[in-house]
Amino acid sequence: MTTPDLQSLRQHLHRIDGRGYRAYKEIAGTYALDEPGLSGAVLTVEHVQGDPYAAPSRLRLTVPTEVADLPPASCANRARRLGTATCLARAFARAIAASAGSAGGRERGSANARDDRHRGGSRGDASPRDGSLQIDRPGQHVLERTCLRVGENGEVQARFFAGLPAAGRRVLGRRAAELLCERLPTVAAASLRAAALDAQELRSYADVAEDAEALRAQLRPRGLVAFVADGSCLPRRSGIDDRPLQDGTAVPFQSPPSLQVELQTPNAGPVTGMGLPAGITLVVGGGFHGKSTLLDALRVGVYDHVPGDGRHQVVCDPTAVAIRAEDGRRVEGVDVSPFIDHLPLGRDTHAFRTENASGSTSQAANIVEALEAGARVLLIDEDTAATNFMIRDGRMQQLVARQREPITPYLDRVRQLYEEHGVSTVLVVGGSGDYFEVADTVIALEEYRPRDVTDEARRIAANAGSQRRVEADGPFGPVTPRVPLGASVDLSRGRREVSARARGRATVLLGPEAIDLAAVPQLVDPSQTRSVAAALAYARQQYMDGQRTVDQIIDAVLADVDAGGLDVLTPYPVADGARFRRLELAAALNRLRTLQVRAAAEAGAPPAAPPADPRPRR
Ligand code: ADP
Ligand code: MG
Repeated sequence: MTTPDLQSLRQHLHRIDGRGYRAYKEIAGTYALDEPGLSGAVLTVEHVQGDPYAAPSRLRLTVPTEVADLPPASCANRARRLGTATCLARAFARAIAASAGSAGGRERGSANARDDRHRGGSRGDASPRDGSLQIDRPGQHVLERTCLRVGENGEVQARFFAGLPAAGRRVLGRRAAELLCERLPTVAAASLRAAALDAQELRSYADVAEDAEALRAQLRPRGLVAFVADGSCLPRRSGIDDRPLQDGTAVPFQSPPSLQVELQTPNAGPVTGMGLPAGITLVVGGGFHGKSTLLDALRVGVYDHVPGDGRHQVVCDPTAVAIRAEDGRRVEGVDVSPFIDHLPLGRDTHAFRTENASGSTSQAANIVEALEAGARVLLIDEDTAATNFMIRDGRMQQLVARQREPITPYLDRVRQLYEEHGVSTVLVVGGSGDYFEVADTVIALEEYRPRDVTDEARRIAANAGSQRRVEADGPFGPVTPRVPLGASVDLSRGRREVSARARGRATVLLGPEAIDLAAVPQLVDPSQTRSVAAALAYARQQYMDGQRTVDQIIDAVLADVDAGGLDVLTPYPVADGARFRRLELAAALNRLRTLQVRAAAEAGAPPAAPPADPRPRR
């Protein structure tokens, strides 16, 4: 039996015109295209919405290698394929918007959708029944996405949504035929083939992604945690627009000579810029001089960016985690004792639990959890840190006795983190010079220009003295792995056995629970959040056996994703998922309010002896 063609889809849609909406279900299936330029492509209607108000229908278009005809360089390796896929997905979104004008104005390639998409990817918010096409449009970051895949052989697969048009609850078959049999082929022909694209632009997406990977790979061997290329444009257009500031006021980044390094890239050749060495780096400077902007660029430097982003040659250690205070969050069984001990009422801080963490305890938990999940760099901005967690100056030490202060400030642990655990810190502090003592590198931002002030800061620290005592009582100590208990993670909701979805970038809805990820800024795209939701459900079903630790569970989940792609996470292929890091998956699990854990030492073994106490004072 031969695959039906688009002509037969058109006829079918005309036939069901005016019938009840469910008649659309009949068009699920596969259709061969033989439109000019797309002959050989295959359209699959994967899922048809049940009614006009349900989530839009899901479609897939496979464009074979010889039809897409991408240059070999577009798919030479994983980074290049991801760059290429990002370019094609954006071209597809552009083509949808361009075709909207000619489609009677029902399509909303709208102002709304346009604003929205710069906060991260967006499939827009056109209502499901208005006869629109939508693709999960990538923002500034290059992420593996389920909406567009470029195969090793150059085959292109796009997944997208179509709101099948209705009048009330009746099928508008002719409009649907126009949408699927005319607009869609036009959109695809204009975006999923090399012939329709600007060759230079297509190539630059792959080049830039590959270069960023190459830059990132050179960090550790060179003893660096981050690199900011000279000429980078770090500031963004606005708090809700992630595109580069382009009004002529942006000061291009220029490394201080003492920190300048030259790294190699396969496409852009040698690149000079600021190399931040491992250890403790302070970023100081007056308010509004660009400190947070620099740290923000490092924070998303764990991801690759699109050409022209301005941060496309800013890279950070792939395990870097932005740490902040997050009061009100729940904490489950985390050993925060390096930072917090002798709490009022003798509460144990080796397996600290609270429904309502304070600024300082939440920040301590965030750090220990990040270490547990494999972070090797911590990024902390004073703007979002708890002051009493960060510092405790000499005068306060005199007034409030050490025994009455549960907090050992980060200041007294930051070096231990590096020396015992190899964990570096990049810290923005405009307000306290106490950190001069522990810093390896101090950078001052002056009108957005960085200056290496390490020697000055050392001199000041040596001359002035800090009049404070070091408060760490002993080593930082090991991070105890935790074993999540599967029974504490309920996936069911109403009649659904498994319900795992996202609401925007910052909320995962897992079973009956809402997980708040507002304080997890390295989740940069709602599509990542959707995939994190799916991964939590998958982890619960496959690996939360009461034996595996958080780390082992995440390893197992990500090994499956590496082997089978993001599709392994969901019962059916989704069109709007994106790859996330292990650190954000851990962050989501840790913020589930019902989570229960036990310390790994307890698993199958008698409880560990309590740590020797009192620890020797330094
Ligand atoms: P700080 O953290 O030092 O107070 P921010 O990083 O928040 O400062 O930056 C203050 C303002 O300056 C922001 O509006 C930001 O977009 C802008 N800005 C940051 N870096 C640059 C730059 N290199 N060129 C122009 N404007 C910048
Ligand atoms: Mg700031």
